[in-house]
Amino acid sequence: MSTTTWLPDLIYVNGRFESDRAIVCDDGKIQEITKRDDGIRLKNRALLPGLVNAHSHAFQRIIRGRTEHRSQHTTDSFWTWREQMYAAANRLGPEEIYNASRLAFLEMALTGITAVGEFHYIHHAPDGSTYDDPNLLAREVIRAAHDVGIRIALLRVAYARAGFEKEPNPQQIRFIEQSPDTYLKHLEQLLDAPELKTGMAWAGVAPHSVRAVPLDYLKTIVTFANERGLPVHMHVAEQPAEVSACIEEYGRSPVALLDTEGLLSKRFTAVHAIHVTPKAIASLARAGAVVCGCPTTERNLGDGVVPVDAYFDAGVRVALGSDSQIQIDLLEDARELEYHLRLQKTARNVLAPVNDDSSSALARRLFDCATVRGAESIGFNGGKLEPGAPADFFTVDLDDPSIAGAATEDLLANIVFSLARTAIRDVVVAGKQIVSHGLHG
Ligand SMILES: [Zn+2]
Repeated sequence: MSTTTWLPDLIYVNGRFESDRAIVCDDGKIQEITKRDDGIRLKNRALLPGLVNAHSHAFQRIIRGRTEHRSQHTTDSFWTWREQMYAAANRLGPEEIYNASRLAFLEMALTGITAVGEFHYIHHAPDGSTYDDPNLLAREVIRAAHDVGIRIALLRVAYARAGFEKEPNPQQIRFIEQSPDTYLKHLEQLLDAPELKTGMAWAGVAPHSVRAVPLDYLKTIVTFANERGLPVHMHVAEQPAEVSACIEEYGRSPVALLDTEGLLSKRFTAVHAIHVTPKAIASLARAGAVVCGCPTTERNLGDGVVPVDAYFDAGVRVALGSDSQIQIDLLEDARELEYHLRLQKTARNVLAPVNDDSSSALARRLFDCATVRGAESIGFNGGKLEPGAPADFFTVDLDDPSIAGAATEDLLANIVFSLARTAIRDVVVAGKQIVSHGLHG
């Protein structure tokens, strides 16, 4: 197996940029980061670990710009947006799902994202019938990621009902698998698919929400995931209405329900987790669960602000997702975690660690959310540059106007707070270059 050596000006290792270092890759992994002068020279480039997008609905890329106007409702909200999104979802066949996903994944690759957690819930044909292969659409999404060249965790969604005491919603017939047995049978078929044996794709369990999956069903599939060591992702407390419906049904908030039923764990990622109490935050911390914030989507949908300051204080790990794809720019998500809190609290550097006043301390925390925390959330050993880790990384142009003139010690803060997406030049996944000079292919 031939090794490839890359020689950028700077490499981000152990939380800081080092010069005079080469990154040596072999068999899709990083072999060493060392002093070497032979290899592929990446002039005026800084090299960083690939970004990990922990929460995506790839097909929603096609409604970008199509929901930014008043609908027929007096007031627009998450729920009126959802009707528009369903209308689009219900018109997509397998080929369209592939094309929409490929478009989203291509944009992700160009922005330095090397792995994605795809929260996939369209399973059936538009009339609600199951395809001959019940994972046809999931496999089309995996094929799109494969053709672009990024890694994918296919988080296969369980969806059983419209909600507590709600009539079935005909717009959801493509998502529904009525029983946990059907869901698990289909999941096991997916786990056996050849494309999941390559290291580039794997599966996880994704109960959609407490609204869409009743408790017994939820317990059955989370138990299965825990026995197999699979990641578990779930939308939690995105909207106040979801919290009040859960209290009405179970007498407990979503996080309290998950906690008291023993469903939280280190493998559990609570997506959004916005409308939570201090007690809920403490429960997530105790369980070692991850929270995935999606701030570009959350501000677009009017969801609210993720209380990341409280999560950090409690020691909860926070990952990031591009979710609705209104923007695909994980560094924008990273800076918005902080910016939303600045607006809410009329203060600055809210998320900066207390005992570290170095100029990139806050940026380091936010960059960890976009890399290593995302990798932990979707269940792989990525998001960092060290021997044995996957050879997944991207470079930025140090001469780009958005970061030109940055001193080495301020460079990460320049990248996290100011980098233009177009400054991303090279992207490598599993040692294979998929973006060169800002172009894919
Ligand atoms: Zn989502």
